Amino acid sequence: MRKCYKCGQKATVYLPQHRIAFCKEHYIEWYLKRVEETIKEFRMFGKGDRVLVAVSGGKDSLSLWDALYRLGYDADGFYINLGIGEYSKRSQLACEKFANQRGLVLHVFELEKAVASVPALKELENRPACSFCGQLKRYYTNKFAKERGYKVVATGHNLDDETAVLLSNVLSWQMDYLSRQSPVLSEGEGFVRRVKPLVKFSEKENALYAFLAKIEYVEEECPFAEGASSIEHKKLLSLLEEKSPGTKLRFYMDFLRRMRPMLKAEQVALRPCSLCGEPTTGEVCSVCRLKERVAKASLSSSPSS
Ligand code: AMP
Ligand code: ZN
Ligand code: ZN
Repeated sequence: MRKCYKCGQKATVYLPQHRIAFCKEHYIEWYLKRVEETIKEFRMFGKGDRVLVAVSGGKDSLSLWDALYRLGYDADGFYINLGIGEYSKRSQLACEKFANQRGLVLHVFELEKAVASVPALKELENRPACSFCGQLKRYYTNKFAKERGYKVVATGHNLDDETAVLLSNVLSWQMDYLSRQSPVLSEGEGFVRRVKPLVKFSEKENALYAFLAKIEYVEEECPFAEGASSIEHKKLLSLLEEKSPGTKLRFYMDFLRRMRPMLKAEQVALRPCSLCGEPTTGEVCSVCRLKERVAKASLSSSPSS
C-alpha cells in the first residue's frame, strides 16, 4: 500500500513522473501550491489583477478557474458558445453551474450571433474547424478582455497540449512558432497578456484534481476535434511518458530553459484592422474577412424576391 507523502495515510493518487503519492486532501494542496508557483515563476499576474479565465466546460479550464478562486485571485469566467448543438449547450451549463455554486461571474459570448456557428462555418470554409475556431476564440477573448478592462486572459492549456504543439513545431522546424511558444505572451499592440498557468500539469493530473475537488465538468471532447493531428502527437508522447515517466515535463521545461532563449522572435508589423480595429498584419483582419464570406454566402443562399 502506498502512503501519502505528507501525512502517511493511505494514498489515493500516485504521480509517476514525480514519484510521489498523496491522499485526497494533500493532492489538492499540492496542486494548488504548484499552480501558485507556476504563476509566480512565469510572472503571470498578481493578486490585484483582474483575470479573465477562458472556460470550455472541460476539466482543464474549470480546474484552473477553481484553483484561481481558491487561491484568492480575482478571476471571472468567459465562455464562448460555438453553436455545436448539444455539446455546446452541455458545456455552457457546466460553466454556469460552476459559477453559480461559487458565486462567480461568468460572461457568455455567442459566436452564432457575432459571426456564425462552427458547424455553419465548417460548411463554408474548406479547412479544419480547429483552425478558424482557435482563431475566433483568441480574437473574441482578447477583444472582450480589452473592452472590459481585464489585465490578463488565462487558458487551461496543459502539458499534453503544449508538448504536442512543441513536437509538431519541432518536426517541421517552425522556428517562428517555436520562438513564440511560451506560457506567457506579453501584452501590447492591441493584445492583452495571455497566460497558461496549467502548463506543468498533465491532462491526467487535471482530471484527478477536477474529480477530487468535485468539479462537474463535461467529459466529451468537441466533435470537430476528431482526426486533428495533435491527437496523434499526444498518443506518441504518452507512449514515451509511459516508458519513461517525466519525459513530457522535461521536454517542455528544457525547451523553455535551454532552447527558447536562443531563438529570436521574428518581428511582425501589426496595425489596426481597417474594419474592426483589432491588430492584424494586413489591411483587414482574418475574422473580418471571414465575416465578409459569411455575409456573401447568406446573401447568395437567400431566396430572391
Ligand atoms: P482546446 O483548444 O479546446 O484544447 O482549449 C484550450 C483552452 O482554450 C481551454 O483550456 C480554455 O481555456 C479555452 N477554451 C476552449 N474552448 C473554449 C470556449 N468555448 N470558450 C472559452 N474558452 C475556451
Ligand atoms: Zn495526506
Ligand atoms: Zn477586423
